[in-house]
This record gives sequence, C-alpha cells and structure tokens, in this order.
Amino acid sequence: MGIIEKMRLDGKKIFVTGGARGIGKSVATAFAEAGADIAIVDLDIEEATKTAQELEKNNGIKSIAIKTDVTNPADVDAMIETILKAFGRLDVAFCNAGICMNVPAEEMTYEQWKKVIDINLTGVFLTAQAAGKVMLKQGGGSIINTASMSGHIVNVPQPQCSYNASKAGVIQLTKSLAVEWATRNVRVNCISPGYIGTELTLNSPNLQPLIEQWNEMAPLHRMGRPEELQSICVYLAGDTSSFTTGSDFIIDGAFTCI
Ligand code: NAD
Repeated sequence: MGIIEKMRLDGKKIFVTGGARGIGKSVATAFAEAGADIAIVDLDIEEATKTAQELEKNNGIKSIAIKTDVTNPADVDAMIETILKAFGRLDVAFCNAGICMNVPAEEMTYEQWKKVIDINLTGVFLTAQAAGKVMLKQGGGSIINTASMSGHIVNVPQPQCSYNASKAGVIQLTKSLAVEWATRNVRVNCISPGYIGTELTLNSPNLQPLIEQWNEMAPLHRMGRPEELQSICVYLAGDTSSFTTGSDFIIDGAFTCI
C-alpha cells in the first residue's frame, strides 16, 4: 500500500467542534473525503445540520450534527453519548471551536475575559478529556486541538490578551495530555494557524479594516485559506502519524518568523 492510501481515514469515527463553518467545516470536509464518518458539533445546529448533510451527499459517508456548547460539561457528556450510539466508537477528535474578542486589557470586564477562556481553553479541555476517556478505554485515538499563532506571538495592532493567553494555554494543555496518555496510545497534537480567511476574521467589523495591515506585515502578503489546514489534520488523524504526539504545528506563511 502506498503512502497516500495509508493516510486515508476509511471507517474512522471523528468529531469536529466548531464544525459548522470556517476551519472546522473545511477540515471536516477533508476527513470525509478521506473516508471518515463525522459528527459536526456546534452551538449553531442549523448550520451544523447543513454541513453534515453536505458531507454525506458529497462523500457517501455518515455524518450527524450535534448541538453542543463546549463550555458545558453536561452538553459534552451528552455529545459523546450521541456519538457512541450513532458510530459505536471514537477514533479522532478535532477540538476546534473558538472565538476572539478585541478589547484593551485595562477595559476588559471579568465576563469578557471568562467567555474567551471558557470557550477557547476550558472548551478544548472538556472535549479533549471526554474524547480521551473513550479512547483510553478503546486502546487508542488521536486528538487534534486548534491553538493559534497567537499562542506564540502577540498580534498587533488589535488588543486580544484573553485570546492570546487562551491559545498559549491550548498549546501547553496539548503537550500535557500527550505526555499523560503517551503510553496508552492516545496521541494529542495541535495546530497553530496564522490569519485564515473565515467568518471570524473576514466578517468581524473590528478586524476587517486590519486585514490590509496584516497582509502587508505577512511574508506571503496574504491570509491563509481554510483548505490550507486540511492536509496536516488528515495526517494527524491517521495512522501514519503514529510517532507524532505533543507537537504543535505552526501554519502561518512564516508570520511568526518575523
Ligand atoms: P468561525 O467563527 O468561522 O467558526 C467557529 C465555530 O465555532 C462556529 O461555527 C461557532 O458556532 C462555533 N462555536 C463558537 N462557540 C462555541 C461553543 N461554545 N460551543 C460549540 N461551538 C461553538 O471561526 P474559525 O476562524 O473557523 O476558527 C476556528 C478555530 O480556529 C478557533 O479556535 C479559532 O480561534 C482558531 N483560529 C482561527 C484563525 C483565523 O484567522 N480564522 C487563526 C488561528 C486560529
């Protein structure tokens, strides 16, 4: 069997949080194209249902949509129960849901701080922990978390200290889980994308005016596209990455090099 065949995900059962749109949807599409069955997990059930239907129609795989708030432990437990009922097992988790908030540190309210940390860091912990419990019992699995280049650098000019702190937390959480679960065949890695064109960036009124400035700074002079994150995630989800755990993959067109 050639390397491309070995990288396929036929029959694997995967959940993707924040899978309704953006990076989550794009990576879920790649997983489906590689043959996996997909649970699209999102707060926005309408959009999640549309995405799941699209994946089934285009790829002949099974896909379900599950309304879940990743910050709510009871929701996360119910999500796992639904997946196990529908798919019987869980091989891969893409813990990706996240938000950004641009508020100067000295003006940030406790509620604003907490919301970003709850979704971006606690949400990743709760969903990775729930996935890990199933995978440890099964004897293996792969977890991929979405961090960001903001876990490495401080973006300018927009003030986003809660986001940056949450993403640095995701990177260290990923490494911690990878070490705890290494001998039990549960691998944990994260991706750290640079600026990617999605609703989060393109449709946010406060970020839109900054895009030109970011592109000027960026060595490639452009943002990334969600599809440009697909192949690394397919690699991490599959069996050819069996020696890859505790790694953080920066995919940013060299933005963090400058
Ligand atoms: P997006 O806003 O397009 O999509 C995020 C999805 O997450 C939405 O479908 C939303 O409904 C869902 N979501 C939000 N809160 C949720 C919750 N509590 N429970 C469940 N689902 C929830 O964003 P995106 O650009 O696709 O970002 C996806 C991930 O990538 C985020 O973690 C983000 O921080 C990270 N990221 C994005 C960029 C970028 O430039 N777009 C760069 C680096 C990292």
